[in-house]
Amino acid sequence: MRLADLFDCFLIDLDGVVYVGESPTEGAVETINILKTSGKIVIFLTNDPRKTSAEYSDKLREMGIVVSPGDVVTSGMAIAYHIRNSYPDIENKSAYVVGSGSLKDEIRLTGLELVSGEDAKRADFVIVGGHPDFHYEEMKLATLAIRGGAEFFATNRDPAYPTPEGLVPATGAMLASIETACGKKAVVAGKPEVIMFEVALAEHLHRDRERFAIIGDRLDTDVQGGRNAGITAILALSGSTTEEDIKQSETKPDYVIRDLRGLLTDSPGVPEKYA
Ligand SMILES: [Mg+2]
Repeated sequence: MRLADLFDCFLIDLDGVVYVGESPTEGAVETINILKTSGKIVIFLTNDPRKTSAEYSDKLREMGIVVSPGDVVTSGMAIAYHIRNSYPDIENKSAYVVGSGSLKDEIRLTGLELVSGEDAKRADFVIVGGHPDFHYEEMKLATLAIRGGAEFFATNRDPAYPTPEGLVPATGAMLASIETACGKKAVVAGKPEVIMFEVALAEHLHRDRERFAIIGDRLDTDVQGGRNAGITAILALSGSTTEEDIKQSETKPDYVIRDLRGLLTDSPGVPEKYA
């Protein structure tokens, strides 16, 4: 029996599982295409808010993976979806977005009017997503708006992300500066928060939760997110976590695979759970 046989729907983290930087991980393209042609539902999840779902699906297609933008949930799209569902009456409300052009596009689609400069100080919503042009002025305007009563959201809390230069600041680092200045915590969409999973599973609520699994390379976001959402968590060792890290951590995955090919490896009997 193969591990993949235990599930109907896979939520697959991108960086560290499907690819590292620009290169697909060993066997990722073939495995995902086999899962899809055998009728499994595959949804991609990423905490990285710097690109839109369409941009990520282009990247995956260029690698040879069959995918459409609707199959990719980003933390930016998830927070936009959450705001649209939580505030049905936002047509005349304004938002100050600290983030990439892609995040601004996602928020604009909610119907919120995007504001900047002086108007940002009186925004009804502030949404924070990490971006490389983060500036003191953005920190200041966001702080003034939130202290003035704006609703406060962020895409994710990842403190840093890997680059060829090493780990560099991500959304969590920029968000912490604004939270420190305004004395409030943002509502966050990205893994391990459940908002991301609610968005990913919105069209599949009629299905049996036991047949869902998340596959990720991080214990604190992917595996803990699976726990929070009540679905099976599979850790892939193709990214930022080692077997030693798992031993040291209190957060344990249900299954561990070397990389995505581990889903399709035949084993005698039912695949064994991680002890
Ligand atoms: Mg990852």
